[in-house]
Order: sequence, then C-alpha cells, then structure tokens
Amino acid sequence: MSLPPDGHVHTEWSWDTVTGSMTGSCERALELGLPSVAFTEHADLTPWLIPAPVRPLLPDHFRVRLRPDGVLEPPDLDVAGYLACVEECRARFPSLRILSGVELSEPHWHRPRADALLAAHDFDHVLGSVHSLPGDDGHHHEVTVVSDPPAEVLRAYLTEVLGLVESTADFAVLAHIDYALRSWPGEGPPFVAADFEAEFRTVLRALASSGRALEVNTKVPLPGEVVRWWFEVGGDAVAFGSDAHEPGLVGHGFAEAAAMVEAGGFRPGRTPHDFWRR
Ligand SMILES: [Zn+2]
Ligand SMILES: [Zn+2]
Repeated sequence: MSLPPDGHVHTEWSWDTVTGSMTGSCERALELGLPSVAFTEHADLTPWLIPAPVRPLLPDHFRVRLRPDGVLEPPDLDVAGYLACVEECRARFPSLRILSGVELSEPHWHRPRADALLAAHDFDHVLGSVHSLPGDDGHHHEVTVVSDPPAEVLRAYLTEVLGLVESTADFAVLAHIDYALRSWPGEGPPFVAADFEAEFRTVLRALASSGRALEVNTKVPLPGEVVRWWFEVGGDAVAFGSDAHEPGLVGHGFAEAAAMVEAGGFRPGRTPHDFWRR
C-alpha cells in the first residue's frame, strides 16, 4: 500500500523551526513516494508565559521573542514570502502535489485575526490546534503534563479542544488531539486510553458533527482506540500529519499509522492525495 499524504509539515517559514527546509522536505517526500505534502506553517496567535526557571534554557530563536514579563510572543507568519516559496517548489518539483497551508493556534480565541488571515489568502489546507491553556494567573501556558498531574492536564486539554471544535472557527482538520500525551511522564502510571474514553468520544462526536477531519499526528503514536472511537461516532475523514520541523521527519511513522487507521475502519480516498475515508 502506498503511504498517505503528509498534511502537516513545518519549514523555515515557521518561526519555531531552525532546521526546516521546504526544498529539503519536498525532496524527502519524493524519496518516500508520498503523493503530496502540505506545508502548514504556524500562525501562533496566543502569547504564553514561560516559567522563570525555563527562560535561560530556551533556544535563541525562542529567547528573542520573550517580552520583559516572560511572555513569549510569536511573530506573524510572513505569508507572502511563504507562498512565493511554495510557488518555487511547485515549479521545481512538478511531480509532487504541494499544498499551501497554515496551522492556526487557538483560532477560536482570536476570531478576527484568524478570519482576516484566511480571508486574505487562499490556503489549501487549514489545521486547527490547541497548544496552550489559560492559567489561574491570567496568562496562557504551554500544554505540558510535567508540572500538574498528567490526567488533569489531558482532561483540561480535551475540554479546550472541545471548545475549538464546537466553535465556528474556519479550519478543516483538527490537529494532534493527543498533543498533551507528548509530555506524559515516562515514570509513574502509564497512559491508558480507556481511562479517557468519555472525554475523547465527546470531542470526536463534536468533530464528526462539525464535518471536519481528524488528524493522525505521528510525532508520537496515536493510540489506536482513538481512531476506532472516531469510526464509531461516525467520523468521516482521517488526515495524516508528521508535524515534521525538519526534512528527515517528513512522513515519519506513516506505514505504522496507515496500518493502524486501516484497522480502525478507514481506507485510502478516491485519489492518493485525498483524506482517508470510512
Ligand atoms: Zn501543533
Ligand atoms: Zn505543527
């Protein structure tokens, strides 16, 4: 079976990506035989507080974005420069289907900015993401299960993702529903999907009725149960995304992910670059 398209790749046009390369990512996609690749650069709309002990440890390209109060303010995406680069790659790699895209961070909190960005540009592929949560101190915080009990962070994350999915924010694919699992501690009780079945199903049901697609993000392996629940609640479409921030990770883990999604009841779409369907 051929590999699915990679619908979630970052390049040098994402502010947090120093190892990115659009050209290199196209070459890697061709090498792997991927039918298409979508460059979904960050439009990070929410500034978030970096805890004081972490600030000196930040890489330079993060530290230069720090305000004096310790809040990290991501820069705007240079859409014109980015889209020009997409055009260059399309000309250079005509056998690869290259989609333009954007990953909107918490667009439901920033409707005027998110709506204006999408109105001004014709992106092929729009992801909706949650990366941060509101804290008690009036700031937003990166989603991490390091400081708080992991189960609590995951539940808070899924509650916010539900808010995103239930909103009318304009995006076609829910990115990384399992984002909070990336920092699940190696020590202590392991993650058990069944413990969070009700919370996942609530999000998945809302996603299905919104008509949007579920992304299987391969940065960490998505528990197969989530895809099965997506099928059971009537979910229609599955997108695959490596979330690569360097060319070597384009299509990472896709063979395993495709097998898992197929076991969950989904099949490749009518064309190789389509979403997978039930
Ligand atoms: Zn993301
Ligand atoms: Zn991403």
